[in-house]
Amino acid sequence: MGDYVERVVDLEVTQEEAAEAAARVIDWLVAEGVVIRETDATGVYGLHADEGHLPGPQWTRAVVHDGWGPGRLAVVTGRHHHVGGQGEDDAEYAVCPHCATRTTFIDHPASFEPDEAVWAPFRAAVEAWEATGGGEATRATCAACGVATPVTDWQWPDEYALGALSFDFWGFPPLADAFVAGLTRRLGHRTARHLGKF
Ligand SMILES: [Zn+2]
Repeated sequence: MGDYVERVVDLEVTQEEAAEAAARVIDWLVAEGVVIRETDATGVYGLHADEGHLPGPQWTRAVVHDGWGPGRLAVVTGRHHHVGGQGEDDAEYAVCPHCATRTTFIDHPASFEPDEAVWAPFRAAVEAWEATGGGEATRATCAACGVATPVTDWQWPDEYALGALSFDFWGFPPLADAFVAGLTRRLGHRTARHLGKF
């Protein structure tokens, strides 16, 4: 099951705060026995992390069932767009925070490819955010209301999460809702959660 990753992404932490927030959560997870401090590269296929924490003696506290052995918990810091599913790299839609209109990039199920004319400016703004973290270039303009808003303020599907801190549970059985809620509480921010396959 090492090809599966369940990911919890902090949607609000800044890159500057991410390392401290990550350390705080790892302290908690070590105290709970979910992971240990030791890391290695076994079963970690992340684009942005090479190693993950080994499971701790109480790792089953984090999951719904212990049907199979867990892999590693990789902690990813730095501004990235995190995608669920099987490596798709485009968002399906985003919702304008100003007028709540949904802009659709991929017209499922009619199409599996984004409408480039609509998606390209959003993708460019995401790339600008990843590179710089702020500024005019990170804004995307809503076709409905004409307001340009930073991409981090747009509402994205959970499968396309913009964040500077991610917890990637490689090969773990499904995480328990209460565990994810506890992790989210410790971060003190909104989070997105999705499943990826690599
Ligand atoms: Zn709008």
